[in-house]
Amino acid sequence: MAAKVKRNDEVQVLAGKDRGRRGTVRAVNPDAGRAVVTGINMIKKHQRSTSPQQPGGIIDREAPIAVSNLAVICRSCSNAVRVGFKVLEDGRKVRTCKKCGEAID
Ligand SMILES: [Zn+2]
Repeated sequence: MAAKVKRNDEVQVLAGKDRGRRGTVRAVNPDAGRAVVTGINMIKKHQRSTSPQQPGGIIDREAPIAVSNLAVICRSCSNAVRVGFKVLEDGRKVRTCKKCGEAID
Protein backbone atom coordinates (compact mmCIF):
# COMPACT_ATOMS: atom_id res chain seq x y z
CA MET A 1 0.00 0.00 0.00
CA ALA A 2 1.27 3.47 -0.78
CA ALA A 3 2.44 5.62 2.10
CA LYS A 4 -0.04 8.19 3.31
CA VAL A 5 2.53 9.91 5.47
CA LYS A 6 5.97 10.85 4.26
CA ARG A 7 9.04 12.50 5.68
CA ASN A 8 8.76 16.29 6.10
CA ASP A 9 4.96 16.18 6.00
CA GLU A 10 3.21 18.41 8.49
CA VAL A 11 0.76 16.27 10.43
CA GLN A 12 -1.82 16.56 13.17
CA VAL A 13 -2.20 13.99 15.93
CA LEU A 14 -5.68 12.46 16.10
CA ALA A 15 -5.41 10.33 19.23
CA GLY A 16 -3.37 9.91 22.35
CA LYS A 17 -1.89 12.39 24.80
CA ASP A 18 -0.73 14.74 22.03
CA ARG A 19 -4.10 14.79 20.32
CA GLY A 20 -4.67 17.98 18.35
CA ARG A 21 -1.01 18.94 18.23
CA ARG A 22 0.91 19.39 15.02
CA GLY A 23 4.45 18.55 14.03
CA THR A 24 6.72 17.62 11.17
CA VAL A 25 7.42 14.02 10.26
CA ARG A 26 11.10 13.26 10.80
CA ALA A 27 11.07 9.57 9.88
CA VAL A 28 8.62 6.92 8.76
CA ASN A 29 8.84 3.19 9.33
CA PRO A 30 6.38 1.68 6.82
CA ASP A 31 6.89 -1.87 8.09
CA ALA A 32 5.89 -0.92 11.61
CA GLY A 33 3.28 1.60 10.42
CA ARG A 34 4.83 4.21 12.66
CA ALA A 35 6.36 7.62 12.27
CA VAL A 36 8.50 9.93 14.38
CA VAL A 37 7.06 13.42 14.59
CA THR A 38 8.95 16.42 15.95
CA GLY A 39 7.78 17.26 19.47
CA ILE A 40 5.08 14.56 19.51
CA ASN A 41 4.92 11.53 21.79
CA MET A 42 7.87 12.63 23.89
CA ILE A 43 9.30 10.09 26.28
CA LYS A 44 12.01 10.20 28.92
CA LYS A 45 14.83 7.99 27.84
CA HIS A 46 17.44 6.86 30.32
CA GLN A 47 20.57 7.21 28.27
CA ARG A 48 23.83 5.60 29.30
CA SER A 49 26.96 7.58 28.61
CA THR A 50 28.63 6.19 25.51
CA SER A 51 31.46 8.72 25.24
CA PRO A 52 32.71 11.87 27.00
CA GLN A 53 30.91 13.93 24.36
CA GLN A 54 27.70 11.96 24.92
CA PRO A 55 26.84 12.29 28.59
CA GLY A 56 24.31 9.95 30.10
CA GLY A 57 21.18 10.93 31.98
CA ILE A 58 17.51 11.27 31.28
CA ILE A 59 16.82 12.82 27.91
CA ASP A 60 13.59 13.77 26.16
CA ARG A 61 13.09 12.21 22.78
CA GLU A 62 10.27 11.36 20.43
CA ALA A 63 8.86 7.86 20.36
CA PRO A 64 7.33 6.57 17.13
CA ILE A 65 3.56 7.07 16.88
CA ALA A 66 1.15 4.96 14.83
CA VAL A 67 0.55 6.44 11.39
CA SER A 68 -3.16 5.70 11.81
CA ASN A 69 -3.20 8.31 14.58
CA LEU A 70 -1.90 10.99 12.24
CA ALA A 71 -3.56 13.12 9.60
CA VAL A 72 -1.63 15.04 6.96
CA ILE A 73 -2.19 18.78 6.95
CA CYS A 74 -3.09 20.00 3.49
CA ARG A 75 -1.03 23.00 2.34
CA SER A 76 -3.90 24.32 0.27
CA CYS A 77 -6.74 24.27 2.79
CA SER A 78 -4.61 23.86 5.97
CA ASN A 79 -6.98 21.25 7.36
CA ALA A 80 -5.96 17.91 8.82
CA VAL A 81 -7.33 15.75 6.04
CA ARG A 82 -7.63 12.25 4.77
CA VAL A 83 -5.41 11.42 1.87
CA GLY A 84 -6.44 9.96 -1.46
CA PHE A 85 -4.31 8.97 -4.40
CA LYS A 86 -4.46 9.70 -8.06
CA VAL A 87 -2.27 9.02 -11.06
CA LEU A 88 -1.29 12.03 -13.15
CA GLU A 89 -1.21 12.04 -16.95
CA ASP A 90 2.56 11.59 -16.89
CA GLY A 91 2.16 8.45 -14.79
CA ARG A 92 3.24 9.90 -11.47
CA LYS A 93 1.20 8.90 -8.48
CA VAL A 94 0.43 11.72 -6.10
CA ARG A 95 -1.45 12.10 -2.87
CA THR A 96 -4.49 14.31 -2.87
CA CYS A 97 -6.47 16.10 -0.19
CA LYS A 98 -9.92 14.55 0.17
CA LYS A 99 -11.30 17.86 1.36
CA CYS A 100 -10.22 20.30 -1.35
CA GLY A 101 -8.93 17.88 -3.98
CA GLU A 102 -5.54 19.52 -4.34
CA ALA A 103 -2.42 17.38 -4.85
CA ILE A 104 -0.27 17.18 -1.72
CA ASP A 105 2.98 15.94 -3.31
ZN1 LIG B 1 -6.97 20.50 1.13
